[in-house]
Amino acid sequence: MTNVPYPDEAPASAALFARASEVVPGGVNSPVRAFKSVGGTPRFIASGKGAFMTDVDGREYVDLVGSWGPLLHGHAHPEVVEAVTRAAQRGTSFGTPTENEVLLAEEIVSRSPVEAIRLVNSGTEATMSAIRLARGFTGRSLVVKFAGCYHGHVDSLLAEAGSGVATLAIPETKGVTQTQTAETLVLPYNDASALRALFAERGAEIACVITEAAPGNMGVVPPVAGFNQVIREVTEAHGALMISDEVMTGFRASATGWYGLDPVTADLFTFGKVMGGGLPAAAFGGRADVMSMLAPAGPVYQAGTLSGNPLATAAGLASLQLSTDEAYGKIAAASSQLQGMVSAALFNAGVPHRIQTAGTMFSVFLFEDDTEAPEVTNYALARTQSSTRFAAFFAEMLARGVYLPPSGFECWFLSSVHDDAVLARIDEALPYAASAAAAAR
Ligand SMILES: *Cc1c(COP(=O)(O)O)cnc(C)c1O
Repeated sequence: MTNVPYPDEAPASAALFARASEVVPGGVNSPVRAFKSVGGTPRFIASGKGAFMTDVDGREYVDLVGSWGPLLHGHAHPEVVEAVTRAAQRGTSFGTPTENEVLLAEEIVSRSPVEAIRLVNSGTEATMSAIRLARGFTGRSLVVKFAGCYHGHVDSLLAEAGSGVATLAIPETKGVTQTQTAETLVLPYNDASALRALFAERGAEIACVITEAAPGNMGVVPPVAGFNQVIREVTEAHGALMISDEVMTGFRASATGWYGLDPVTADLFTFGKVMGGGLPAAAFGGRADVMSMLAPAGPVYQAGTLSGNPLATAAGLASLQLSTDEAYGKIAAASSQLQGMVSAALFNAGVPHRIQTAGTMFSVFLFEDDTEAPEVTNYALARTQSSTRFAAFFAEMLARGVYLPPSGFECWFLSSVHDDAVLARIDEALPYAASAAAAAR
């Protein structure tokens, strides 16, 4: 192998990680950042610009994580930076209504089927609040979710969850009570008959079904044709609500989100990531009659000291204003080009693999030799991927200056500033990573 620019020695990151591990559990403030399933030293990032970020050792990486989805226009986009800077100069928080909250709410309502929306600070808060609202509206308690879907770290939604729970293979989270678990029913994803059978038996007790509009947290596992529509029909027939979690897909998969590609009108939608432009902002919204149950209009309480924060709404608005058809076109083109590059490199190295897409989102499943790479339609199949191979692939890409999500259960995120020059840098690294994956077993 030739000129590996960044071997796995990152002294400044290693020193910070050691200090962090003394005062922060596991050294990180969110589990997937710790590189636990891929090995190596988590990189401490000092700065980012466009498609690149630079770590505290001064090494530059092409970023394919994009802060796990929010950065649809790359790091430190000048228009986002300017909007945030101006907002900060006017004051960082008032605890009163502000104009930008109205503008951001109007922007989201105009792009999506929701009639009313409430801003919160994280995707977790959005799904938690949507579930409380669904329970308040229906007067029922059971929640149905799908294995491999991740909806944030809400107690009742951690059962068989994707993302870090899948990456770290945590079977059940301590601290979630049996009562909470008993009120969450977990079904296999993409299984319409299991859903119908459950509703036939317990439909009258079910408050809502929550689903990722197109799952990206067990790797990308899109709904099979018509699956979201089945959820819509079954919930409607039994007086339960459908919650479409678009925290990852919203304003990324298309200008609307997954809804733009698969227009199934859920009762409630949740958004996050892109709509905050890299600052903490998220939202839940939907049918006016359901949303009007929220305090102060109605009896379901929900609140937040920093909800609709001026810096976050400024960043979100600036980011959505950049999210034009042209920007989505660029991302789509880069996404299919990159998928082709990845597939060619893996094919040449003889690594069985499968690339799955949801709009411009995609992920790459690597398998052991002699495996017929399956179409991954649910969490059980996602777990047949080779994490050993992914770890080797990841490490080689990192050493060659490409920062991938540190887990095979995560989506690769592009931005409107990942141009041909950036893709060429990735393409240089791919054959080495593919060979490393082929050699790992
Ligand atoms: C990221 C994510 C969440 C949680 O959002 P946080 O802001 O991390 O709390 C919820 N649902 C989906 C689909 C997500 O991808």
